[in-house]
Amino acid sequence: MNVYVTSTPEISTSKTTKVVELLNSIKGPLNFFVVDKLSKANHRNLVDFDDNTLPIFFDNLNKVAESERDSFSYNHDDFYVILTSKKLDNAFYGKNWFSYFNQRNIFVRTYGWEIHTRRKTHIAIAHQVIENIFQSLSGYKFEDYTGYHDRPQGCLNDFCHNEYEIEFKLRTGHICKTCLDYAVKNGITIELVGQISRYLNLFRGELLDIQSTIDEMPVPKVMITEKGKVIVSNKEIRIKHINRALYIFAALNRGEVLSLSYLKYRYDDFKNIYFAIKKTGNDKAVKTFMGIDVNAQGERVVVRELSKSNKYLTDVRNEIKTSFKNVLGDELAEILKIGLFDKQDYTNTSQSCFILPENPRLEFEIDQGFMEMIE
Ligand SMILES: [Zn+2]
Repeated sequence: MNVYVTSTPEISTSKTTKVVELLNSIKGPLNFFVVDKLSKANHRNLVDFDDNTLPIFFDNLNKVAESERDSFSYNHDDFYVILTSKKLDNAFYGKNWFSYFNQRNIFVRTYGWEIHTRRKTHIAIAHQVIENIFQSLSGYKFEDYTGYHDRPQGCLNDFCHNEYEIEFKLRTGHICKTCLDYAVKNGITIELVGQISRYLNLFRGELLDIQSTIDEMPVPKVMITEKGKVIVSNKEIRIKHINRALYIFAALNRGEVLSLSYLKYRYDDFKNIYFAIKKTGNDKAVKTFMGIDVNAQGERVVVRELSKSNKYLTDVRNEIKTSFKNVLGDELAEILKIGLFDKQDYTNTSQSCFILPENPRLEFEIDQGFMEMIE
C-alpha cells in the first residue's frame, strides 16, 4: 500500500522529505514516497495558493487531490497526502484543524507544532498522517464524526480540540481496544496494526527524550549498611559476597581504574571488605577472584591466565549490573553499575579494568561501623 506525500507550493521539499524519511524508517505494508509539490498553475481554478487572506475550501483541496491521483494513475487503495501551511476554511472561523481525510486523501497542517514537539515538528506531522491512515482504514467517514473519543483518553482516535490534547495523544502512543476492534472489523490486517503500533512507539520515544531527561534527574543514594548490605531506595540489592566486595571497593575508590594487578596490590584492603561482608577469616574466595594462589613457600602465584581473567571480570561486572537491574530497572542499573573497559598496557597486553566513575549525582553513604571493620 503506497502513500504519496506532496505539499502546497510554500512548503520546502526538505520538510516533506523529513516526514517521509521518518515514516519509511518503519517497514511494513505502508510505503511512503515524496511527490513534487503541487503546481500553482495546474490548480489555479480551484485554489489560489498565493492569497493568504482567503481560506482554502476543503472540498476544493480534495478536488485537487483527486485530479492529481488521476493524472498519476494512483491505485485506488493508495493514500495521497497533502501537507500545507495554508489555512483551511474553518480555520478562518476560529476552529482548530490539524488534519482531515476523505477516503484515501489526507490533508495535514504543518504549522503550530513547535512547542508541542520540542521543535521536532516532523514527528507531529507524521503522527497526523498515521492517525488519518488508521482512521481511513477503520472505515470512518469524513462527514460523520462517529468513532472518536470526545473526551481525550490518550487513544489515537481522541477527537482533540487543541494542540495540547494532541500532545497528550502523541505521548501516550496508544490505541484503545474499542478502536482496534472497530478497525479489525473493517478488515485491517495484522501487518498494518503492527506497523501502526510501531509508529506510535517511535513517535512517543522520539518525543520523550527520555534519556536526556534521566541524565538530569536526581539518583537515589546508595547505602552500605553496617553489615555491608547494599540498599537503594529502601530496597536491598542482593549481590553475592565477593562481587559486593568489589562494588564497595570501587565505591571507596571512585574514579580509580581498577585493574586486576591494582586489586592485587591492594589485596589486604579488598580482603578486609570481603571479610566484613562475609563474616569470615578465610580468603579463598578473594584469591579465586584475583586468580592467584599461594605456593608451598607462601608466595602468591598467578593461576588464571589473562584472557580467562578478562572473561571472568566481564561476568562479575554483568552479575552486579543484573542485581541492580532486577530490583531497580534498566535506567538506574545503567547509572549504578561498575564500568568495564579494556586497557592496553606498555607491553600491548589488553587487560580488563573496572571503574566506578565520578558522578556528582551518585552518592554513597557507608555506615561508620562498617568503615571501622575494614580499616
Ligand atoms: Zn479509542
